[in-house]
Amino acid sequence: MISVKDNYGRTIDYMRISVTDRCNLRCRYCMPEDIPSISHDEILRFGEILKICRCAVSLGIRKFKVTGGEPLVRKGCLSFLRELKALSGVEQVTLTTNGVLLAPLIPELKAIGIDGINISLDTLDPDTFRQITGFDDFGKVWEGLMAAQTSGIRIKVNSVLLQGVNDQDFEKLTELAKDYPIDVRFIEIMPIGYGQQYRGYDRKTLLSRLAARYPDYHTVTQPRGNGPASYIAISGFRGCIGFIDAIHGKFCDTCNRIRLTSDGFLKPCLYYGESIDLKTPLRDGASEEQLCGLIRESILEKPACHQFWSPDTDAAREQRQMSQIGG
Ligand code: SAM
Ligand code: SF4
Repeated sequence: MISVKDNYGRTIDYMRISVTDRCNLRCRYCMPEDIPSISHDEILRFGEILKICRCAVSLGIRKFKVTGGEPLVRKGCLSFLRELKALSGVEQVTLTTNGVLLAPLIPELKAIGIDGINISLDTLDPDTFRQITGFDDFGKVWEGLMAAQTSGIRIKVNSVLLQGVNDQDFEKLTELAKDYPIDVRFIEIMPIGYGQQYRGYDRKTLLSRLAARYPDYHTVTQPRGNGPASYIAISGFRGCIGFIDAIHGKFCDTCNRIRLTSDGFLKPCLYYGESIDLKTPLRDGASEEQLCGLIRESILEKPACHQFWSPDTDAAREQRQMSQIGG
């Protein structure tokens, strides 16, 4: 089977695709206010994204995550997911969503054969939800979560805990994995864009909080999912608890991914601003072979590791917001 490795010997088999920079929420650590949206002309059309995906597949990238902004606000997103899922060589298509628009779409997503849905939910308290996201939509997200988990689609909940904002929700969020067959993962906030204004929690701190409550937990050693999360299992829980220790955990040596922004730039690393423009050559009529060459170039330029602890004056640092990258 074809596979593509970067300069550090890491196999790259996973691409995150941001299909829009727009969103129907205003999460305070991501997009707390209206920021100028990328104009429609600059956003890749779905046909263009599929062309890039075909090239990616031919290089050995077979797992795709569709993200945003909020992917479900883009018209035609489900048709795109269907086409992506049907592309020859694609092994896995998953979605990351805030869940607001999810509930009525579950039957169609199930019919498409989506391989998993990550729902971002930072609290189970409607008031805190409004404080974090700016909208009163907790009920809709909950409805989406319930519809998703009863459909049999594999569901994960992703939560970002912010000091002084939703720390108190940690235990309740973990209990979602007790009550439902859902993995709940805690993502350490990264100092990107508005996220720089907040402090979060690393795995060690959260784990000691959990250990006090569930001393019989054990570490899950077998791989679970495509990403950098490490998991624990707690007896009596139907799902696992995961930690994405983005800053303190430094999992760069196993990084398997590249990211496509909605305006057609390929990013080899979340931290660095560096990216390769695929849209211009695509619109200038580049052949699949030329596009493959550019994707390979981006993979070869993938740096050894992020530098999130370096001063925020580092000129190489990403200047896009997380909503423009897709997480
Ligand atoms: N709108 C969709 C959602 O919320 O799932 C997809 C895009 S959103 C940018 C993807 C993920 O990035 C969400 O789980 C969100 O919590 C996370 N995120 C946003 N800003 C972040 C930051 N500074 N550090 C860590 N995670 C962040
Ligand atoms: Fe929107 Fe997702 Fe960012 Fe929240 S985290 S503002 S839902 S893109």
